[in-house]
Amino acid sequence: MKHFPIFMALEGRRVVLSGGGEAALAKLRLLLKSEAKLTVVASDAAPEIQAWAADGKLHLIARAMEPGDALCASLFYAANEDDAEDARVAALAHRDGALVSIVDNLADSQFITPAIVDRDPVTVAIGTEGAAPVLARSIKKSLEEQLSPNLGLMARVGKAFRAKVEALPFGAKRRAFWSDYYKADVKAENAAQERLETLLDQHLNAPEREGWVDLVGAGPGDPELLTLKARSALDKADVIIYDRLVAPEILELARREATLISAGKEGFGPSVSQDAINEMIVSHARGGAHVVRLKSGDPTVFGRLDEEIEACEACGITWNIVPGITSASAGVAALGQSLTKRGRNSAVRLITGHDTKGYADHDWRALAQPGEVAAIYMGKKSARFIQGRLLMHGADPATPVTVIENASRPTQRILSTTLSELEPSLTEANLSGPALVFLGLAPRAALEAADQFDQQEAAI
Ligand code: SAH
Repeated sequence: MKHFPIFMALEGRRVVLSGGGEAALAKLRLLLKSEAKLTVVASDAAPEIQAWAADGKLHLIARAMEPGDALCASLFYAANEDDAEDARVAALAHRDGALVSIVDNLADSQFITPAIVDRDPVTVAIGTEGAAPVLARSIKKSLEEQLSPNLGLMARVGKAFRAKVEALPFGAKRRAFWSDYYKADVKAENAAQERLETLLDQHLNAPEREGWVDLVGAGPGDPELLTLKARSALDKADVIIYDRLVAPEILELARREATLISAGKEGFGPSVSQDAINEMIVSHARGGAHVVRLKSGDPTVFGRLDEEIEACEACGITWNIVPGITSASAGVAALGQSLTKRGRNSAVRLITGHDTKGYADHDWRALAQPGEVAAIYMGKKSARFIQGRLLMHGADPATPVTVIENASRPTQRILSTTLSELEPSLTEANLSGPALVFLGLAPRAALEAADQFDQQEAAI
């Protein structure tokens, strides 16, 4: 972000503009919405500018800009539509200490004026850092259609009512009140006032809200693989308790007021104990909060979900599971393969390399059969153990094995190998992100060239 958006207090502050033509008029129409003290310096000001000056809406200095004209100005606009003149006046304004913007000259401007959707006091500012003015216009158009013209009126009446709303406790209850208020489109001031009074009455007399817990799957990392339900839970949650594997891009989608708490766990890693996490979930929900327990992939796959559900049930807390896309689904998608295939495997196993007690044991004899497919979660550290067990039980050393790291994320890497080569290839690849090991699956041939590239890359 090269330009950081802010809303500047201009009430009573000096803003100076040099120029008297079309560009000056366009800027002045915006600036006149503010409460700044406007000065225009122009030897040939358009009739509209002269009329505004006559009405006392701005001060007009009818000559070319001179040193000192921008003294004490907060902002200065060069709008002469003449590069040489704009450069001259900008240099003068710099010397006078104003922040300078030159119309249609991004490179020499210290600030830019966004496209504005005006529902005063609600203002939406849209900027593209000069990259896509057409896009800015189309965003503005769609927001103009979306936001009721009465929004400003509602916000103004609402603002005057804020003190009364303090009768509701701070936090979720007050938020619920305001979000109810803005759900309706009110056309007149007295209707807005009436709505506020009625709603406040309803909210003050509403029965105690009980907290509840959504156990939500965040998917493998790509935010577009979130379900709409997960998205809406993130929009509404008061508290979000997330695992380390949940991608930061997904946490960005959380409501700004939500409390975000890291549960610090990676898979079965021990950073925060499961008991401490259960306690955290339960105590927030008991306090009336909508808790989202956010887990990578699907919460029902190697997520210690049942322990958290049991903790909720023990305290009579309502819970609900929002499924997500498990990393095995994202992984095979990246390989261009199916998890099951007619004639190859009619079953697929989701297994873990590790459990709380160490390396996990499985039916190795069955897994060693030709055509078996398994997605091995948390299989990085235990790869040598798994390789040894399978070979010992007669698996074909040439069985394809594919390791996929950071499935669905921009950092995704694929290592395509065989059972006999799994180690040391995996150790040599030095993967640092979460990785799934697919036993019995190779990337589809069409993707092979890319795989080899990845493999080489991984080996570096
Ligand atoms: N509930 C999760 C799994 C949690 S266990 C799910 O459904 O995906 C943690 C393991 O999941 C990691 O050790 C890794 O094996 C796997 N994993 C999670 N996200 C992954 C990703 N983006 N790419 C590859 N593997 C991933």
